[in-house]
Amino acid sequence: MTDADRGTRPSRLRELSRSLVLTELARSGALSQADLVRSTGLSRATVASIVTDLRAEGRLAARVGAEPARRGRPPALLQLQAGPDTVIGVDFGHTHLTVAVADLDGRIQAERHEPMDVHHAAERSLDRAAEVIADLLAEMDPAVPPVMVGVGVPGPIELDPSHPNGTFPGRVCAGTVLPSWTGFDPAAEMAKRTGLRVIAENDANLGALGEHRFGAGRGVDNVVYVKVSSGIGTGLILGGGLYRGSRGAAGEIGHVQVREDGALCRCGSRGCLETVASADAALALLTPAHGRPMTAEDLFALEAAHDPGVLRLLTDMGTAIGRVIAVVVANLDPNMVIVGGSMARDALVDSVGVAIRRFNQPYVATDMTLARAALDERSSLMGAIALAIEAVATA
Ligand SMILES: [Zn+2]
Repeated sequence: MTDADRGTRPSRLRELSRSLVLTELARSGALSQADLVRSTGLSRATVASIVTDLRAEGRLAARVGAEPARRGRPPALLQLQAGPDTVIGVDFGHTHLTVAVADLDGRIQAERHEPMDVHHAAERSLDRAAEVIADLLAEMDPAVPPVMVGVGVPGPIELDPSHPNGTFPGRVCAGTVLPSWTGFDPAAEMAKRTGLRVIAENDANLGALGEHRFGAGRGVDNVVYVKVSSGIGTGLILGGGLYRGSRGAAGEIGHVQVREDGALCRCGSRGCLETVASADAALALLTPAHGRPMTAEDLFALEAAHDPGVLRLLTDMGTAIGRVIAVVVANLDPNMVIVGGSMARDALVDSVGVAIRRFNQPYVATDMTLARAALDERSSLMGAIALAIEAVATA
């Protein structure tokens, strides 16, 4: 039964408070009522009343928390009722496409992974993703169509100022490293192809969301997630939510110049961080040393064999990234820095941590935790699912 059915049209304030509670639950998975009071800033009475309504509507489930309280019984943890609804996550990587169907708790029900060159025309990549979604759904219960699709693309997406709340991502930014995607609205294009509701986001932002909701950053309010793969970028969780900046370009550190006379970059500048610290840069540097074109698998095999050249390369890359992240850390004072993406190898992650501490005042990074992405290369996929779940929960 809705509030309108009861003849008590809720005030705007009440709607906002309810949306705040739903957002916190969608982001955190399971929270006690006291946690909700803390994280929303709402009064204890308001939270209690909203929780009572949501439980009456069957939208909340309660379970006993694992952590014992200081005295007495552990507090009940509240979580959104998963129900039969499902969402889809789509992750366009530079070299792959992954599509997964999940329930509203983020449990994967079906998944497809296939190689794909994202530099293909955007039309072709989106067509293929729509085909994979159709194939997956054909194998599932047709009575339960997914309620939302979250799509990640490896480039910044401009915020859409025409959207009612002004914060929804729209078109892929001009001047990105994906020329054929520039000006494309991935959400609108996928919606056209699938007939489903779609929301799109930059892949590093999704990596941050995925790690925050399901991975190393669970329950951490301020997280800097660094994705090091074919390119490099960061996703920022500030105050428990994704920070996109004024235009959607927050965290685009890949084209910060780190070497004045460095190599020319595909963005048109030179000496960008991406030219010294990305999978593409690493392979370009290894190729002449080995006299043959090198692949990521070659690099990982050499790393496993403790090849000194590869370990040196990963350490140098981590140091270059850490120098830039040191500035981010000095500005944002995060609780945690998470390094993810295909190049989050031990030597690289360790040297990111060393550089963050070396290039900051000691107190800046004293209480900061450095972690490797718990979801490995699935951070962005799980972020696309988290984005879709949050959009459903707050709709
Ligand atoms: Zn560049």
